[in-house]
Amino acid sequence: MRYRRIDADRKSIGIQVVYPGDIIIRAPEEISSEKIQETIENKKDWIKEKQQFFRNREKATDYEFYDGEKFPYMGRWYRLKIRKGEPSLKFYQGKFLARSTSKNDDKTRTRELRPLFLRWYNQRAENSLVKLAKKQAYIFEKDIKVNIYDLKISWGYSKQGKIFLNWRLIMAPKDIQKYVITHELLHQDFSKHGKEFWNRLDSYVPKRKEHEDWLQKYGKRLDV
Ligand SMILES: [Zn+2]
Repeated sequence: MRYRRIDADRKSIGIQVVYPGDIIIRAPEEISSEKIQETIENKKDWIKEKQQFFRNREKATDYEFYDGEKFPYMGRWYRLKIRKGEPSLKFYQGKFLARSTSKNDDKTRTRELRPLFLRWYNQRAENSLVKLAKKQAYIFEKDIKVNIYDLKISWGYSKQGKIFLNWRLIMAPKDIQKYVITHELLHQDFSKHGKEFWNRLDSYVPKRKEHEDWLQKYGKRLDV
């Protein structure tokens, strides 16, 4: 099975399956590719199950991937331009430029472009969301691991020494991303949403209410 390898500061091999079924391996540099193949082989059933789950996933939003439709990224909506050709997607000069084998057939376009959008968003999240979270963690003097995750019902999630961020957050404005990250970082000290938790959070993020309102209003559209 093909996979993407990320060198990681950890002792064991970590396997993640991300949309639309890509395998991501996190492992220390000294671990050989044979060892990784072996681990993948041992986890084959689990990986297949995950990949199947993504394949079965229902359409999350009403996006139709037509020429001119707008998609969110970092809190702004950008227009999609479609040309005929082998399916591809890139973001260039404030536009999503895509190719699809059919410009007119909704099903074909969706089938071809949706996975490309999902992959694009996930890659952006793996890059800039993780960077932003690491920066925030540094400011808060927290030594934590940051994981991008396909969270179904929340924007973030915190565990001892780790935070998990929903990849869809890459679609939200940076202030909102920062708010969610700060929220999760604070959970490293407070597991529950108690009075002190909110007091502290409000002191770090004075516009918390506004951010929560924004997520309430637009959150459902942050998906593809
Ligand atoms: Zn919370």
